[in-house]
Amino acid sequence: MSKESLAKSIRTIPDFPKKGIQFKDVTTLFKSAECLKELSDIMYDMYKDKGITKVVGIESRGFITGPILATRIGAGFVPIRKPDKLPADTISKSYEKEYGTDTIEIHKDAIDENDIILLHDDLLATGGTMKAAYDLVKEFHPKKIYTNFIIELKGLNGRDVFPADANVDSILYL
Ligand code: AMP
Repeated sequence: MSKESLAKSIRTIPDFPKKGIQFKDVTTLFKSAECLKELSDIMYDMYKDKGITKVVGIESRGFITGPILATRIGAGFVPIRKPDKLPADTISKSYEKEYGTDTIEIHKDAIDENDIILLHDDLLATGGTMKAAYDLVKEFHPKKIYTNFIIELKGLNGRDVFPADANVDSILYL
């Protein structure tokens, strides 16, 4: 299967959740056994030799493919969640969205200085969400950080918000 077929498996919903947004619906990729296997194989090839110890997934679609990848490369999985969802002590980061602010949280004991981290989410748009996650993870001083998206939206320049040491890579450019 080619990346082109993988890209074609993603459904676009116009004006969801609000007017003007072309929503990339990855559930149509996930429901296909062939597509899910192909995606898993591509991610495995990208990250198998990096020594990654923890995949950090962003709520909520990062919780679907993050653990698949973690299992294949022999890493653990750490969730970054919306406020007041994680049960133990957390650290949090607030960031600006188009309308108002949002906050994300991670457990205080989730990462240590010996970890090599792969941040993972389904989609890079403006980069605001993942940059906040990157800043949060940086506070733990891990050895190295990689950042991965299934889809990167072209034309929004979301990757420009990251420093070079975030090692940003995407699988599909739509
Ligand atoms: P951003 O912070 O602007 O990069 O937005 C990224 C987050 O919002 C990710 O968690 C995406 O799942 C979601 N998102 C933003 N734009 C879209 C879109 N066009 N289609 C699907 N999800 C989106």
